[in-house]
Amino acid sequence: MADNDLLHKIDSLQKQGEIEKRLPMFECGRCAECCKRPGHVQISEDDLYRISGSLNMEVREFSEKYCDIFNRHSLMLKKKPDDSCVFLNRGGCDIHHVKPLQCKGFPVRWRTLNSFKYCQGLKDLFPEIDNS
Ligand code: SF4
Ligand code: SF4
Repeated sequence: MADNDLLHKIDSLQKQGEIEKRLPMFECGRCAECCKRPGHVQISEDDLYRISGSLNMEVREFSEKYCDIFNRHSLMLKKKPDDSCVFLNRGGCDIHHVKPLQCKGFPVRWRTLNSFKYCQGLKDLFPEIDNS
């Protein structure tokens, strides 16, 4: 579906109140597509302490091993050569129980137009977008 058509469809669902109504019922389809996308996962200070603690690592050790500097002052998770997240493995997210706030918020609290194209949970929730 062309972006303009997709935008139109989402806009129409938004006006009908369907986006807000259905999003609370979102269920992750565990397709892991969101972990393979271009872009970055930023690490907040809370994420930093929570994740490094769960891995029994010092903050400094964790940030050196798993993070890159973003915009000169914040941290983002490193990526593998294929652009997937450093914590994505065959079984899914290695830090699922303590994953970053940015990951926890997707796609209910934030999403992009593209998310409707690849996120299995969104496709299941809004079948009319995928099928039209
Ligand atoms: S931290 Fe986990 S949920 Fe977040 S992008 Fe990486 S693999 Fe995906
Ligand atoms: S793309 Fe959507 S359905 Fe797939 S793992 Fe991410 S949140 Fe879940």
